[in-house]
Amino acid sequence: MLGTLAKWLRILGYDTLFFPYARDDFLIKLAEKGERILLTKDRELAESFEKSYFVKSEKLERQLCEVIKSFSLKKREKSRCSVCNGELEKLNKDEIRNLVPYYVFQTQETFFRCKNCGKIYWKGTHVEKIERFIEKVYQDMDCE
Ligand SMILES: [Zn+2]
Repeated sequence: MLGTLAKWLRILGYDTLFFPYARDDFLIKLAEKGERILLTKDRELAESFEKSYFVKSEKLERQLCEVIKSFSLKKREKSRCSVCNGELEKLNKDEIRNLVPYYVFQTQETFFRCKNCGKIYWKGTHVEKIERFIEKVYQDMDCE
């Protein structure tokens, strides 16, 4: 249920794990061990574990707003891989010649690769959309 929120927290640059089917005790252990905060839609779980946050809204924009507000999150310089949470490293243009479509190679200058899963990111139009969405979330802060 919070998978999309997790993706967006990674885009904001926060180390975010996501387990849709994990048991409560597993999640609590993980949070304790990794000094993480447990975000959940399960009110009982949230009440039973101090270092947790109950996500109230069903809507992504509001969920992001809630979490950003509650933990005073700023957008970090570097995003993490939205797929696997890996760290991104900047690549030189000559390193990616054979890794992206020719058109992309010709038209883009800045590339990043996930150190974990190898996914390659570049600043295409989708990134502009992502940045606009984040800007809007920070501007509106549409939650209580
Ligand atoms: Zn990755």
